[in-house]
Amino acid sequence: MNILLLGSGGREHAIAWKIAQSPKVDQLFIAPGNAGTALVGTNVNIKADDFPAIKELALANHIDMVVVGPEDPLVKGVYDYFKSDAALAGIPVIGPSKEGAQLEGSKDFAKAFMMRHNIPTARYKSISAGNLEEGYAFLEELQAPYVLKADGLAAGKGVLILDTLEEAKKELGDMLGGMFGDASKTVVIEEFLDGIECSVFVMTDGESYKVLPVAKDYKRIGEGNTGLNTGGMGAVSPVPFADEVFMQKVDERIIRPTIEGLKAENIDYKGFVFLGLINVKGEPMVIEYNCRMGDPETEVVMLRIQSDLVELLEGVAEGNLGSRTLVHDPRAAVTVMLVSGGYPEAYEKGKVISGLDKVSVENIVFHAGTKADDGQILTSGGRVIAVSSYGANKEEALARSFAGAKLIDFEKKYFRSDIGFDL
Ligand code: AMP
Repeated sequence: MNILLLGSGGREHAIAWKIAQSPKVDQLFIAPGNAGTALVGTNVNIKADDFPAIKELALANHIDMVVVGPEDPLVKGVYDYFKSDAALAGIPVIGPSKEGAQLEGSKDFAKAFMMRHNIPTARYKSISAGNLEEGYAFLEELQAPYVLKADGLAAGKGVLILDTLEEAKKELGDMLGGMFGDASKTVVIEEFLDGIECSVFVMTDGESYKVLPVAKDYKRIGEGNTGLNTGGMGAVSPVPFADEVFMQKVDERIIRPTIEGLKAENIDYKGFVFLGLINVKGEPMVIEYNCRMGDPETEVVMLRIQSDLVELLEGVAEGNLGSRTLVHDPRAAVTVMLVSGGYPEAYEKGKVISGLDKVSVENIVFHAGTKADDGQILTSGGRVIAVSSYGANKEEALARSFAGAKLIDFEKKYFRSDIGFDL
């Protein structure tokens, strides 16, 4: 098979690494990829949302399957683009239709979907510019802190958590007034849920599904979960509190109604569902849906899939996922993200990365924001390298990743040395 993977982050390097291990694969192309994906496949300098260029690439290289990493191409309808083009219609796209991607693309859509299917989530109200007063009234019914969410995609920045009613009312006005452009023309006001979060990934062919290993990511820049939110500073799998009893509840109350709900509403969904969950006193509730894998969780989830990923992706494409086997690796896996100093605020790019050849064989190094330049590897983003490792337990895996994180270097490198501390 020839496979085309869309995207360019650590998530895509991890997926590419796993795909490349499959005996079913002849050629793997990554568009646009990074310096790491170039080690396991062929990078093609095409943006992940440039559909006409992707079409040309797919036809020229006899692509048999397209796997979509990030949400952007999905929300923009890459699945539908392939389906509606006679020349491309036979090439399966692993990812939901544009309508299915609304589970991530619109918080209002996601909340209404959960209500329709009795899926446990925070109480909420959707407010648009004309009904600010109704928003104020709902805020007054709630207790602090207050959660405001821009309805649309806002580069991971569209959620505000505010301590006072006064601030919440002001920010609601600002959001509706265009703080996040069109993304915040509608704002979801939500009850605050207090608990510990985890990420559950489900693969579905629209009928049956497989639950991938559970992971927990660390979003804040500072140790002890302090400071600004980032794309993710590290991840750990498994998650001790996501035990059999908890996962049984997740399956019955959340996963099954989600997959059945999509089917009942005739929403074409053949891909990954990412459930951002919160454990409120042992009861799982949905914080958010995403329509693709998470980053950096993928950098540990791929390590914990023992089975051939391509075999499973084929099951998704062919609608026979139920007959395929998914075996979880019993070992722990962790990843520690090396980031550019200053991130998630202003940071410099173009720093030479050294030490990639010094790390032990126990480290699996995934590139995130890197690019190859004249024989050197340079930083090209805020999140630069994800140092992943296996271990008999979380502690052993973390010791290995931290050792690797010290050997790889670039000017102003920073990483959190407390990943997994709260588990
Ligand atoms: P989201 O983009 O919806 O995942 O929100 C970003 C982050 O805000 C989540 O990962 C949570 O840490 C936090 N968050 C979102 N909604 C809530 C809520 N209802 N209660 C508590 N925290 C929340």
